[in-house]
Amino acid sequence: MIRRLISQQRVDAAPENFERERWIVVSDLDGSLLDHYSYSSEDARPALDLLRQLDLPLILNTSKTLRETLDIASEIGIRSPLIVENGGGVFIPKKSAKGKYWAAENDLLRRKEWIPVGTRRTDILKTLKHLKFERDLKFTSFDEMTLQGLEIHTGLQKASLHAALDREFSEPLLWKDSPTNLDWLSSKLEKAGLQIVKGGRFHMVSGKHNKGTSLDWMRSFFKTSVSSHVKIIALGDGMNDLPMLEAADIAICIRSHANPTLKSNRKTIITSNKTGVQGWNESVLSHLRNLQADPSLATH
Ligand SMILES: [Mg+2]
Repeated sequence: MIRRLISQQRVDAAPENFERERWIVVSDLDGSLLDHYSYSSEDARPALDLLRQLDLPLILNTSKTLRETLDIASEIGIRSPLIVENGGGVFIPKKSAKGKYWAAENDLLRRKEWIPVGTRRTDILKTLKHLKFERDLKFTSFDEMTLQGLEIHTGLQKASLHAALDREFSEPLLWKDSPTNLDWLSSKLEKAGLQIVKGGRFHMVSGKHNKGTSLDWMRSFFKTSVSSHVKIIALGDGMNDLPMLEAADIAICIRSHANPTLKSNRKTIITSNKTGVQGWNESVLSHLRNLQADPSLATH
């Protein structure tokens, strides 16, 4: 049914404003475009097909490493920039011969530019080592774990472990010390221009960037490359997606079984009806159709 609706849409009949404004979609992966358990984006196929048909950029914005994200982008067939390690780095791919922002599936993106935004992991490790010694802190960083230990603690298979380990702008820690010592470490890191954020399994140490900090950069990038007014639809399901949603023009929280619904004092956040990938699909389809029908609705 959905497929039929898409095929009935006349892309060339889009209103003039829709063409003048360059809409881009920025999305989280796990729990949003990828299923929490199967890591599949199959339920988002109708929305991905429509984005491809309109040649709208889809930018993945994730806590994953570049190597992990490149594999996923290649499976989907995206040719848009990627934001990785929670805003730590921005990857700009070479353009493809055909569509600007989409390519065939399993077509690996080749690098045009790699923009490091965050503090380098080697510098983070130096600071951590020094602070650990200073107060005899009890934590284990990825850097200190054996491959076997990493396999146990991350739940990842060896094949995907190497891609997850290939970090450049962040270091996950297994915290085994008191909350008081965590506060101490947090304030010391703050003074060193770093931050520590609690994630699902690990505490993550990185420079002071987040999923929202690269969005302004992305707006200017598309403004200069396509010389039109850039507007962003952002989708995510976790607390670390909030800065990205707040920096977008249309903010969509993907309903989740794992996380509470996201709320903001600064931004109206629309929550999807369905959960996970189905919610992603439904939200992207409905917003693209609204924009095609009446672009003036876009910012309300
Ligand atoms: Mg997520």
